[in-house]
Amino acid sequence: MSATYEAGIDGPLVAGVDVGGTKTSVVVTDNRARILYEHVTPTERSSLVGQIVGLVDDARRQLLRDVGAVGVAIPGNVDPDDGSVRMAVNLGITHLPLGPMLQARLGVPILVEHDARAAALWLSERAADGSTQAPANVAFLAIGTGISAGVFLDGALLRGDNGLAGEVGHVVADPDGVVCACGLRGCLETIAAGPAIARQADEAMAAGRRSLLSPHSRAADVFRASAAGDEVAVEIIDRVADHLARAIRSLVLTLGVKRVVIGGGVAAAGPALLEPVRLRIARERAASPLIEAALGDATVELLSPSEAPSARGAAAIARRRIGLPEREGVGER
Ligand SMILES: [Zn+2]
Repeated sequence: MSATYEAGIDGPLVAGVDVGGTKTSVVVTDNRARILYEHVTPTERSSLVGQIVGLVDDARRQLLRDVGAVGVAIPGNVDPDDGSVRMAVNLGITHLPLGPMLQARLGVPILVEHDARAAALWLSERAADGSTQAPANVAFLAIGTGISAGVFLDGALLRGDNGLAGEVGHVVADPDGVVCACGLRGCLETIAAGPAIARQADEAMAAGRRSLLSPHSRAADVFRASAAGDEVAVEIIDRVADHLARAIRSLVLTLGVKRVVIGGGVAAAGPALLEPVRLRIARERAASPLIEAALGDATVELLSPSEAPSARGAAAIARRRIGLPEREGVGER
């Protein structure tokens, strides 16, 4: 390894940007995937391209260094080949040639990837031990403004013929439920995504239910009230956990993955989210030898949004583009 490499922060830097329905995160990493710069800000839906350009320029100014490439993680139907984004319903995007637009303004290679897939890539590489072990299978279930899964399976990110593999937020959870941003009724997103959790609390109070919650509470407030035993909040979180446990069972049975990681903004709820989901999965395992066999030693974990997995995954993809080590730890002694 060269001296500059040993010095750690020399060599080209890359940026990873995660555009979420609520927040946008930026990380800049060095050639060993160490984060040198991190910033989180509310997403400006009306000017996404301008916001990303501004955020990358801010990072360049703060670091007094240029970046060699920028990875962008974003929800919707993402085509990494042409950098386009379609049908990002929670961002109001029908079709946006994001990669070419950013490349014209930033002047460096732009790599666009689905947000949950970028996170799954980062998790699969992080789980691999050094440079010898193959990246591990993992399903990353992102629960935020919307819900989707990114799946790394048998050595590759799962995309499917339609590019929509993993969009479990729009599988039917309640056929008689409310209308989703996608136009259909009763999608998983309308029950278990952040805004849906908040909406159900407002509905309960509008119906005259007594609760510790105040009107227009956020999902995080509902989780806190649930942990404190508030009846309305407990009912909502029980329903959320029922549906998420079913979604995880479906992921494990459909894909054969042994590791499911829950992330996204709602994952900030911590044990108040994870424990009710785990409890339901444990009950299913106890009730069914088939599920016990299918789940085997499968694990369901929670990843704090502060870990910025999608932004770090986007940075990992940018590092690949300019030929830097693909995995954290590669090149370390
Ligand atoms: Zn939907």
